Amino acid sequence: MNIILVGPPGAGKGTQAQRLVDNRGMVQLSTGDMLRAAVKCGSRVGVQAQTVMERGELVSDDIVAALIGERLDNDQLSGGFVFDGFPRTQAQACALDVLLHSRDRKVDHVIVLDVDEDILVDRVAGRFTCTQCKAGYHDNFKPTTTPGVCDQCKGPTFSRRSDDNEETVRNRLSEYRSKTAPILAYYAPERIVEHVDGMIDIDAVSNRIAAILDHDP
Ligand code: AMP
Repeated sequence: MNIILVGPPGAGKGTQAQRLVDNRGMVQLSTGDMLRAAVKCGSRVGVQAQTVMERGELVSDDIVAALIGERLDNDQLSGGFVFDGFPRTQAQACALDVLLHSRDRKVDHVIVLDVDEDILVDRVAGRFTCTQCKAGYHDNFKPTTTPGVCDQCKGPTFSRRSDDNEETVRNRLSEYRSKTAPILAYYAPERIVEHVDGMIDIDAVSNRIAAILDHDP
């Protein structure tokens, strides 16, 4: 089973994708993570992507489709893919169809996490992550129990994404509205789009997603 998680920045796509990996053995394919890794290692793709990402704009369709294509081949034996943050444009949705079709696969579910956009800037701008175990926190909504110490692994160091600042988040939201939200119309004829309320408790969101996947005919 292959599923796409769609939602604006801060909707909880990464959190829910990670739970699908943990609970169902699916493989998470996050183009954001792949691009951040490319920036970190200073590859050609990373150099091209860095300034675009810092502005909160979208990296070119060709670059992200190529990153996904490579991973589909490497992880071909997996039970299924969770696409997190891809596709983000109609051209990417078409490219994904081609990539999957040539590997005898298809998109089974498109799950949209609906959130109140007014709270997203606050949700995203205060995020930080433990550098050791990657546990996620938030300055206001989910601080560590002891300041400066990770609740899970007791690690003392944390990192923040450089694009999780207010101005960049506003640009990312605007890119989502103008380029990504319209891809739902692309999938509508296949009747595979399902909406989940992303404002409810994280466990409740996971349960709603599980119910959708378990009702797969
Ligand atoms: P994310 O981690 O999904 O929030 O992505 C972080 C940034 O990486 C985005 O703001 C874009 O600049 C870039 N990016 C990630 N995925 C894509 C994609 N599918 N298409 C274009 N740009 C992307």
